[in-house]
Amino acid sequence: MTPRADAQHDRRAELLAEIGRLAEVAIFGTISETYRRCGSAGCHCQGRGPKHGPHLNVSYRGVAGKTTGYYVPKAAEADIREGVAAWQTLQELLRELAELTKDEVMQRVKEDREG
Ligand SMILES: [Zn+2]
Repeated sequence: MTPRADAQHDRRAELLAEIGRLAEVAIFGTISETYRRCGSAGCHCQGRGPKHGPHLNVSYRGVAGKTTGYYVPKAAEADIREGVAAWQTLQELLRELAELTKDEVMQRVKEDREG
């Protein structure tokens, strides 16, 4: 392999490892924080007091193209935040991997033509 192809190969292995790791934890959706009123009569949230929150909500577009979502319990917040961040990073790494693949295909075609 040429040094350039070698470096590309290393980067590809690195990307695949990282993509595999992130894919295990990635969560699809957009996080938003909401504030709510509870149902208890006389609670400060019913009047002018602050509402309860922030509560995490995840929304995403389902397979049918319809936006859906869910409320995230406190205990799951850290994992959900991490998962959504992992999804974002995953997109960037997949894009980089696809770019490498494209370069490799183009390079191969060029070498075939020259050789
Ligand atoms: Zn309340």
